[in-house]
Amino acid sequence: MNLLTFRFAPSPNGELHLGHAHSVLLNRKLADAFAGRMLLRMEDIDTTRCTPAFKTGILRDLAWLGVAWEGKVRRQSEHFGNYEAVLHRLIDEELVYPAFMSRGEIRAFIAESGGGGRDWPRDPDGVPLYPRADKTLSTQERKRRIAHGLPFAWRLDVDAAMQRIAAPLTWLEYDDEALSGTHRVEARPQDWGDVIVARREIPTSYHLAVVVDDALQQITHVVRGSDLYSATAVQRVLQKLLGLPEPAYFHHRLILDAEGRKLSKSAGDTGIAALRNAGVTPETVRRMAKL
Ligand code: GLU
Repeated sequence: MNLLTFRFAPSPNGELHLGHAHSVLLNRKLADAFAGRMLLRMEDIDTTRCTPAFKTGILRDLAWLGVAWEGKVRRQSEHFGNYEAVLHRLIDEELVYPAFMSRGEIRAFIAESGGGGRDWPRDPDGVPLYPRADKTLSTQERKRRIAHGLPFAWRLDVDAAMQRIAAPLTWLEYDDEALSGTHRVEARPQDWGDVIVARREIPTSYHLAVVVDDALQQITHVVRGSDLYSATAVQRVLQKLLGLPEPAYFHHRLILDAEGRKLSKSAGDTGIAALRNAGVTPETVRRMAKL
């Protein structure tokens, strides 16, 4: 069997909290159990929200927790060229299109769509799907707008993508944290509509960078929070279109706060640094992270 490769891929736009601790410790434990590797990736494509202080903080917290990883840290902000090359393939194959509507314009368009937009389809996060209007713009009109410097984002034409694939799309999900059994999940990227694949100023998005890096880093096992479960459909469609290998997935339960809510980026008292400063030991944090 190939070397099993796991990864921990935090976005350095906030502090690590108990949820991250659960994720990284689980990845480390599984890599060790299967004599595999765990790589570390900083998902820092958003160069305004991701700061050097957060990056340093992540490395410090991991060292304090006693979690090691194999190889060099991959920092996405150093690899925009990789993502741009892949984006150009999608552009050339007409699988993405420039979408010009701002958030306000999307809202207005939907509000005028009849019924005040109440029946407008929404993605699994509850966000209204992008209107189809920009898909019908002529090539000439697109060129004209881009030449005039109008803001836009590259969006996946999910209908064209699914037609291109022309086969059922699924992913392999493990049944439990011990990675004992697996089952196949139907991937429905249509539920997300035409997602953003890249922006005018940043030649990628979270989804594009993740699939490119999972392939480049030869990740065999993506183990991450269940908040990303349904987003896996978008990543599967991109992998298929780009001919990238398919990792197996496990979406672990989330550590919730006392009120049962997902932990947030402004970690407060569930932050690893705050716990450390309060004199909590790494062993206790491991216990609190339920691992
Ligand atoms: N960077 C993402 C986050 O911190 C995780 C991405 C992933 O594991 O695929 O939420």
